[in-house]
Amino acid sequence: MFLRSLRQLRKKVGFRLTIWYSGIFILSALFLFALAYFLLSSSLSKQDHEAIQLRLEELSALYQTGGRELLEREVTVEKKFEKKIPFFIRLAGSDNETLFLHIPYQWVEFDIKQLEKMTPDTTAKWTHLPIRNNRNVLEVASIPLPNDYLLQVGKSTEDRERILRHFREIFTAVMVPLILFGFAGGAFLAFRALRPIRHLISAVRSVGPNRMDTRVPSPQTGDELDELATLFNGMLEKIEALINGMRDSLDNVAHDLRTPMTRLRGIAEIALQSNQNLETCREALADSIEESERILTMLNTLMDISEAETGAMKLDLESVNVSALIEGVAELYRYVAEDKGILMHTKASNNLYLTADPNRMRQILANLLDNAIKYTPTGGRVDMEAHHRGQKIVILVKDTGIGIHPEELPRIWDRLYRCDQSRSQKGLGLGLSLVKAIVQAHKGQIEVFSEPGKGSNFIIALPTDNHQS
Ligand code: ADP
Repeated sequence: MFLRSLRQLRKKVGFRLTIWYSGIFILSALFLFALAYFLLSSSLSKQDHEAIQLRLEELSALYQTGGRELLEREVTVEKKFEKKIPFFIRLAGSDNETLFLHIPYQWVEFDIKQLEKMTPDTTAKWTHLPIRNNRNVLEVASIPLPNDYLLQVGKSTEDRERILRHFREIFTAVMVPLILFGFAGGAFLAFRALRPIRHLISAVRSVGPNRMDTRVPSPQTGDELDELATLFNGMLEKIEALINGMRDSLDNVAHDLRTPMTRLRGIAEIALQSNQNLETCREALADSIEESERILTMLNTLMDISEAETGAMKLDLESVNVSALIEGVAELYRYVAEDKGILMHTKASNNLYLTADPNRMRQILANLLDNAIKYTPTGGRVDMEAHHRGQKIVILVKDTGIGIHPEELPRIWDRLYRCDQSRSQKGLGLGLSLVKAIVQAHKGQIEVFSEPGKGSNFIIALPTDNHQS
């Protein structure tokens, strides 16, 4: 149980960060202490060595001027006044026998006899005389004198060791609170660093089918976590728009399918109920097929509109020659226009280019041209033109047809809306909604100017360089 919760704790980023932060802090503290210890220890030992060396040179000079007598007098004075820095002093004869010895009372435990047993090596700078059951050492420096005599001056490392021991004790006493402080600091830093992530997690947890409006609070720090929160909120916004779009489409489809489905069912019921002959049944079937096709077209167009509106429509962008585009669409409707006795004109210079999906462009121009011909009586005129306006290309589809009433103008873009005066014409009321959605998917705008009885003018403005984000 305990092991399992420990294993789970180890997986937490907060715990790992705490370990990292505190580990680095504690290691740095350890390193600093070790460095300080090393510097203190080497400086103390250097100080001792210098003092020994100086004393050795002083006594050697004394010996050379006044011999053993002067040396002994000096040591007697030293003993009498109990100098602050005591030294071990030994004068050895040519066989390394002790001729004269001075050991401060606190170092009597050193086995000086050992020095006599050692072969004096004047080339070695230092002789170390250990003491039993103790870490202290007597450090001895030697200098040869005339007559093969040897002068030795030394000092115990006990003072040095005492300071270092004190330092180690302080270090141990400080280390425990330091480790605790390291952990507490590490935990605090990890807690602070992970706060945006916790906000993100709680935002993700609270997102649900009915809670798409949740947003992660942005820390406004401009760092990576801030960027992550902004990106996440952007993603939520897109998903929310998509879901709302889908919900609206579904509502619309359900609502709009009711009428044609009821009609379809009516046709089938009438054909079944009245014992009609084969010819009438055939007609009913033909009507049903026609109605089903209308439903299918309606569904497909509705799907296209919602895709375009929600940004889910895939546009195959390429460079499109506007003049060729207009000519191609006009060509498709030339016979229809001629048949209805409508004059059709196109005007666009050959150097106009757009970055757009050519099929979708054809679809919107065909819809506008189809409306223009449909709602223009015989003897009228339809024009398609294109020109540059600043960074945009403007395409106009003008007619001299029945026009649209001002109060109906804002509604013509709504799905399935049809103006009163055009109900006699065939149509689903979806063409203009699709046109507007595709134009907006290309980051363009569409507007209409119309006067009843005089005609309508649909104007599309599209950016020449259209890069999808
Ligand atoms: P429809 O299938 O009815 O043509 P649209 O969405 O294409 O559907 O158009 C919506 C309504 O706008 C039409 O029913 C019509 O009343 C009006 N309309 C569109 N284009 C024109 C036009 N060129 N002249 C007059 N009225 C138009």
